Amino acid sequence: MGGNELDFFCDRMLGKLAKKLRLLGFDTLYFSEIQEEEILRRIGSRIFLTRDKELYIKATRFGMRTIYVEDDNWRAQLRKLILKLPIIENMKPFTRCIECNELLVKATPEEVKGKVPEYVYKTTDEFKVCPKCGRVYWKGSHLEWIGKDMEKLVGRWSLE
Ligand SMILES: [Zn+2]
Repeated sequence: MGGNELDFFCDRMLGKLAKKLRLLGFDTLYFSEIQEEEILRRIGSRIFLTRDKELYIKATRFGMRTIYVEDDNWRAQLRKLILKLPIIENMKPFTRCIECNELLVKATPEEVKGKVPEYVYKTTDEFKVCPKCGRVYWKGSHLEWIGKDMEKLVGRWSLE
């Protein structure tokens, strides 16, 4: 538990939102198959996001920081989170693996040769790798995932 104000735990139905939060650099736990008791046991000091009204009530009763998510698409979900929480001020894009939530480490072009498309290898200097799954990231890949509409949503998009 990092004690960070903006660490998240996404409920089972919020897989896409979880990936976007990781993309923005937030420590986000998500498991597609997990029992309710296990979720409640693992939330800790994280902000729990759920679309399940009963679970929302239960977690709130246990004193957990819980947000009930009304929308069923990630864009609307994220937009509302941005309105509710200081997401933009605290985001650190291009720092975390969207699949395993692991912090990325820098890699040289030589280290990722053969693992990224040839044109990317030739035109990109800065790569990062997930130490857990080996997935390779570069700025272009993050911009692709975030998408044009998302770019607008996030506003100033800094990749420094
Ligand atoms: Zn990974």
